[in-house]
Amino acid sequence: MTRPTRVDDLPIRDELRGQHAYGAPQLDVPVRLNTNENPHPLPEALVARIAERVTEAARGLNRYPDRDAVELRTRLAEYLSRGGVPIAPAQVWAANGSNEVIQQLLQAFGGPGRLALGFDPSYSMHALISRGTGTAWLSGPRRADFTVDVEAARAALAEHRPHVVFLCSPNNPTGTAIEPETVLAVYEAAQAARPSLVVVDEAYVEFSHGRSLLELLDGRPNLVITRTMSKAFGAAGLRLGYLAADPAVVEALLLVRLPYHLSSVTQATALAALEHTDTLLGYVEQLKAERDRVAAALAALGLEVVPSDANFIQFGRFADADAAWRTLLDQGVLVRDNGLPGWLRVSIGTEAENDAFLAAVKSVDVVTK
Ligand code: PMP
Repeated sequence: MTRPTRVDDLPIRDELRGQHAYGAPQLDVPVRLNTNENPHPLPEALVARIAERVTEAARGLNRYPDRDAVELRTRLAEYLSRGGVPIAPAQVWAANGSNEVIQQLLQAFGGPGRLALGFDPSYSMHALISRGTGTAWLSGPRRADFTVDVEAARAALAEHRPHVVFLCSPNNPTGTAIEPETVLAVYEAAQAARPSLVVVDEAYVEFSHGRSLLELLDGRPNLVITRTMSKAFGAAGLRLGYLAADPAVVEALLLVRLPYHLSSVTQATALAALEHTDTLLGYVEQLKAERDRVAAALAALGLEVVPSDANFIQFGRFADADAAWRTLLDQGVLVRDNGLPGWLRVSIGTEAENDAFLAAVKSVDVVTK
């Protein structure tokens, strides 16, 4: 029998050889707290509104969707403007998840012969999407407490002169938000070095104690802030991500996006969800309270907890994080092992899920002090 063909047997691009696909396990266990999803199903009134809006969209499915998603971008701009910084529809772009937004940014501003730099540990897809678009990736430094060290960042930017710089605030997997002064310092250093596009991934910003960085956009055309409806809006299955930036950045993305990339059904569903923003943000407040309760309970158990501005918590330290992960899984609780030695990450679930998680943690006795 011939052996099955492996990916590396194919004439695949060299930089993809030996790489691993994004792989958060999708296991069917009672308590799934591993992908930072929102545990609240959409409210029934919103489900009904989605059905109405999608029915309307279905009547026009013989036509291509609005290629530039103007109504959706207008509503997203209104949502963003709630923070007090006016954002115009021309400053907003939307795609199928913020991963696709990031991919489009890299298609336009990265690519072969270009370099992207991020500060690890951070969201692993920044590196993966970079490689997928032929952009070289460089992992920059963080302090031991996982914050971004401005001096070290300045040195890395001056030395490597990346074309695209990624920041993530609040950072996944560590949970901590970045101070606006730090973002500004990195932006200025990145401009002095090249200039380069600085992308701040704010996927979790609605869960933060602080403010969004939208106020930094004015006068900084190379700054991009990415957002998503997957977390705060509880709509990970919808696949709707977006960004705010200078209108010129949006114009640049029109050069690389596939025509009609955002289906009429997606646009209709996202518009329905935006009509229910207040209810959905109410769930965010509940999750923030649960996050603070779980963080305090973990600390009371003697664990180290990284301060979190997100809907997840990085906790440790374990002599063997993989063994701790398995002990939790044996009790039906799935958390995330990001491969960061000694640490695990738990997404905040419902009160009952969080209680089940905390009960399971008590049985893990591999903590190093
Ligand atoms: N950015 C960060 C920091 C994330 O953690 C995630 C999802 N885990 C994303 C972006 C992608 O989200 P989506 O594509 O669902 O918008």
